Amino acid sequence: MAAAKRITILGATGSVGQSTLDLINRDRDDYEVIALTANEDVGGLARIARESGAKLAVIGNPSLASELAEALAGSGIETAAGADAICDAAAMDTDLVMAAIVGAAGIPSAMAAIEAGNTIGLANKESLVSAGSLMLEAARKRGVTILPVDSEHNAIFQCFDHDRPEGISSIILTASGGPFRQWSREEMRNVTPERAVQHPNWSMGAKISIDSATLMNKGLELIEARYLFDLPPDDCRIIVHPQSVIHSLVEYRDGSVLAQLGAPDMRVPIAHVLAWPQRMDTPCERLDLAQVARLDFEEPDTERFPALKLARSAMEAGGARPAILNAANEEAVAAFLGGRIGFLDIAAIVADVLGSYAPDAPICLDDVFAIDKAARIKAQEQMDSYAA
Ligand code: NAD
Ligand code: MG
Repeated sequence: MAAAKRITILGATGSVGQSTLDLINRDRDDYEVIALTANEDVGGLARIARESGAKLAVIGNPSLASELAEALAGSGIETAAGADAICDAAAMDTDLVMAAIVGAAGIPSAMAAIEAGNTIGLANKESLVSAGSLMLEAARKRGVTILPVDSEHNAIFQCFDHDRPEGISSIILTASGGPFRQWSREEMRNVTPERAVQHPNWSMGAKISIDSATLMNKGLELIEARYLFDLPPDDCRIIVHPQSVIHSLVEYRDGSVLAQLGAPDMRVPIAHVLAWPQRMDTPCERLDLAQVARLDFEEPDTERFPALKLARSAMEAGGARPAILNAANEEAVAAFLGGRIGFLDIAAIVADVLGSYAPDAPICLDDVFAIDKAARIKAQEQMDSYAA
């Protein structure tokens, strides 16, 4: 029997982290957990560390160090705390690091995994949006494979002819359209965070659920795809497909279009990444095409969903624009979830910040962090002026 594959999960208490552990815990002969990390949820982290037999558990918030040590006392599981300790965990020798932290907070650990030469399963799209060129350059230098976990990118990865990319003419990301696909702007104006997090097809963390409602998620994914698959912006397209059965498509020069289909369950792309280049069994629902019966498609509406337009122009401009877009969006989404601003204000604030801040393109990671920080401050200033 082959040795078990060693897995580290960054952001293990989150939605993607839990789905990853669900698959691993069903197949303990083939997968072994090395390290698990979380930001604040000590109880949740301690529980999953015990359940999965992890070697190391790391909590991001350094003030929770002793609480975690107490929670795992006598278990034989090592503990550590702080942002640097998360990077150290990412750099430990493993077969796969699942990067499932939410937001630009995941950049340092994703980079640490790459620089250590670890194969990376990338769910944390914000790190690619903000630091895409630097991350891909680091991966190329170290010969690191980045396996996309995001369902659309995983679909494209599966349909993409990696040996002959010149045969590809475009990639087409599918979008469910989110919970407000058919709503007018007027109807969207007063939606509550509770309503906006209710996605019709997918169950996900709060931030990405809001991004799915504004369609900023698809905008971030467009930028993510552009970096991952190294295609010109014009060849990266979006189509709304409400059933979320086709997870994305690749169009070839001869007119052939390849698609990946499946039930909308993140465990399918996660399983693909865990087992790659092999396949593994999953308990996921099988696709019943007769029951699906029909597949619908429509053009995305960038008037009702301006986040799409902002993301496309940030992608086209490149440089610092995607990092600014992402940072402003993270701040605005947090403010919306906290009841400080309205739903339509999210994209408006991102537009304001993009319009008022134009730094040079980042050439190193510290530049990215500085741009990210400045864009967040600008977003906060904008929100103060809205609230005033
Ligand atoms: P989540 O909010 O459910 O979980 C986030 C995880 O990150 C938690 O473990 C949390 O402890 C950790 N974390 C948060 N802030 C941190 C910080 N500052 N430092 C260290 N750790 C921190 O998020 P999620 O829905 O699992 O999404 C994770 C990532 O995967 C996001 O980038 C998201 O866009 C992407 N993604 C998620 C899904 C999905 O179905 N949930 C699908 C595709 C892509
Ligand atoms: Mg996605």
